[in-house]
Amino acid sequence: MIDYENFRKSVRDFLAEALTPELRRAGELTTSVFSDFKAALAWQKKLHAQGWIAPDWPSEFGGPGWDIQQRYIFQEECKLANAPSVVMMGIQMLGPMLMHYGTEEQKQHYLPRMLSGEDIWCQGYSEPGAGSDLASLKTSAIRDGDDFIVNGTKIWTSMAHHANQIFCLVRTDKDVKPQAGISFLLIDLETAGITITPIVSLDGQVEQCQVFFDAVRVPCANLLGAENDGWSVAKSLLEFERGGHNFTIDVKKQLRKIHDQTKLTPWGEKTRADDPVFRHRLAEAEIDAIALEQTELRIKGTVEAGGNPGALSSLVKVVGTELGQRLNELSMDLVGPAASPQCLDALDPYYEGDAPVPDHALTAMAEYINNRAATIYGGTAEIQRTIIAKKVLGL
Ligand SMILES: Cc1cc2nc3c(=O)[nH]c(=O)nc-3n(C[C@H](O)[C@H](O)[C@H](O)COP(=O)(O)OP(=O)(O)OC[C@H]3O[C@@H](n4cnc5c(N)ncnc54)[C@H](O)[C@@H]3O)c2cc1C
Repeated sequence: MIDYENFRKSVRDFLAEALTPELRRAGELTTSVFSDFKAALAWQKKLHAQGWIAPDWPSEFGGPGWDIQQRYIFQEECKLANAPSVVMMGIQMLGPMLMHYGTEEQKQHYLPRMLSGEDIWCQGYSEPGAGSDLASLKTSAIRDGDDFIVNGTKIWTSMAHHANQIFCLVRTDKDVKPQAGISFLLIDLETAGITITPIVSLDGQVEQCQVFFDAVRVPCANLLGAENDGWSVAKSLLEFERGGHNFTIDVKKQLRKIHDQTKLTPWGEKTRADDPVFRHRLAEAEIDAIALEQTELRIKGTVEAGGNPGALSSLVKVVGTELGQRLNELSMDLVGPAASPQCLDALDPYYEGDAPVPDHALTAMAEYINNRAATIYGGTAEIQRTIIAKKVLGL
């Protein structure tokens, strides 16, 4: 029988010692899914040394052997302690696919490098004409001896400017129905013919890129799964992308921040904590957060009993991301004009100068802007609603 309180304490003790002030600052200043890259990598190395970098992996591949409750506690404690987030496209998404579909050579080569941070992976699914309708992707891979020759482009590729590896869906047969002619390729980003162009987002930062492939030679040994069966790998990976996230943990952190901001925001002689209209809006969001938590616990129960969350993961994605956006709006409302100046320098965890706004207002605008994307990536809210209508409600 696991003593979960004792486990929580051991996680807290570790975090208290391992998180330097710079790493905590990077966590505090994280305004999207990704933290400052330098801090994220430094944190990855510490977690790796502790054996805790891949909480969801089986122990035979380097996981810590935790059950689902321990994994939840670990994520929650990391979030509340302001640990930076690690770039997880490798460990969270590709890792489980390699374990399931990979050859022995692929597992032995890629999995340890993924854990150590020697390889940073990005996800090459979307294309300018293929997002929600992913199966219409056009990037082609044509066999030439022991290699594929890859031509085309991927867009919105998160962290491609920091990554050295990309997993890509490519078209290997265009004469069959779209899903049947797709393969899954592992590509070294340093291969000749690859160009990475950063995309500057609304908040002035770069997290996404467009990646161009011009006659890029990729060994056939880098195929994951069978040729023309990449769609099975792709779908399975998306379940890990959508299903592995605990929105309640994010929402609880946002709520804690709003409570702090509320006390610091004047309202006449009092603070916004005394404003009944604001308190009403906050209470509504808190009630929705409790309902979300219950649904996530229900999913956890299903998974623990050996089941699959299935379409319920679409439900928590819609509710979790939309609730997150409502909380961003409350935050913007609280800090008011202090949200307007662009604070790019001050959002750098290693910045030592003065900020143009008080610390509690520093992240509000960037978080608000970045989180608009949460209802787009990982499958848009409209697509998730269609899945809920068909598979949960049976319409
Ligand atoms: C911040 C961010 C990070 C991302 N990171 C990555 C990444 O690392 N790797 C990667 O491969 N991709 C990434 N993406 C891309 C993301 O997966 C796509 O943006 C998403 O799948 C939507 O595709 P699209 O942008 O082509 O929009 P479209 O599919 O063109 O959709 C446009 C609009 O039409 C709606 N729509 C489309 N089809 C339907 C339908 N059948 N029914 C109802 N409404 C519909 C959509 O909901 C949306 O509102 C990222 C996107 C963002 C914003």
